[in-house]
Amino acid sequence: MNSSGVEIEFLGTGTSTGVPVIRCQCEVCRSTDVRDKRFRSSVIVRTQGVNLLVDCGPDFRSQMLAVTNPEVDALLVTHIHYDHVGGLDDLRVFCGGGEHDMPVYARADVFEELKRHMDYCFVEHPYPGVPSFETHVIDDKAFSVFGVEVTPIPVMHGKLPIVGYRIGDVAYVTDAKTIPQESINKLRGVKLLVINALRHTQHHSHMTLEESLSVIKDINPQQAYLTHVCHEIGVHAQVEKQLPAGVKLAYDGLVVRI
Ligand SMILES: [Zn+2]
Ligand SMILES: [Zn+2]
Ligand SMILES: [Zn+2]
Repeated sequence: MNSSGVEIEFLGTGTSTGVPVIRCQCEVCRSTDVRDKRFRSSVIVRTQGVNLLVDCGPDFRSQMLAVTNPEVDALLVTHIHYDHVGGLDDLRVFCGGGEHDMPVYARADVFEELKRHMDYCFVEHPYPGVPSFETHVIDDKAFSVFGVEVTPIPVMHGKLPIVGYRIGDVAYVTDAKTIPQESINKLRGVKLLVINALRHTQHHSHMTLEESLSVIKDINPQQAYLTHVCHEIGVHAQVEKQLPAGVKLAYDGLVVRI
């Protein structure tokens, strides 16, 4: 990849339960198509030689054992829900027994909750082997990670304010139900938009497929990928046939370069 390009690798594209869902016998959960097997949602964005992990859910270890380039230079967190932060403890392998702090970027409310859930990672002298984090509290303003400009995209996850991220011409917006106009404006001009599309029927905190398609139409990127889908979306092979030109359903392991 040339250094000015952006590469995005989908580590997981499933909703909070993952797909298949434990004990479910539906067509999607019984599918033998590997694209119907979805870890909890997360991506790695690579640009200018920097590897940015977006979210670190409970499947992080399995996801990283499956990628060809398992490097992470910093973590960007979208929100505190367990399917997005449940794997943070596994970042310990990047911390060299306390020698190296993993830079983590998140809203203040996310850090407050993380400190409650994982207090042992934030104390002054943790026991050797626990992950250590360099915390960077973000707001709505763009920031730089090892020279890569990252723009937070505030969105509403039902009643919970969370963020997506724009990195160059790529934007990743997961767990959104609604996107304020100001954030729509920040998304204008992206070449690649990744956005959540939970299922076909209404949900209080996630966009339906129809709602996602209407945002995509408004932003009009060259290419859009749908993520954070649940088993009710349908089998991958069928859903992809029904999508408009320029819109695809993401799947675990997919790598897209622009
Ligand atoms: Zn989620
Ligand atoms: Zn199912
Ligand atoms: Zn969530």
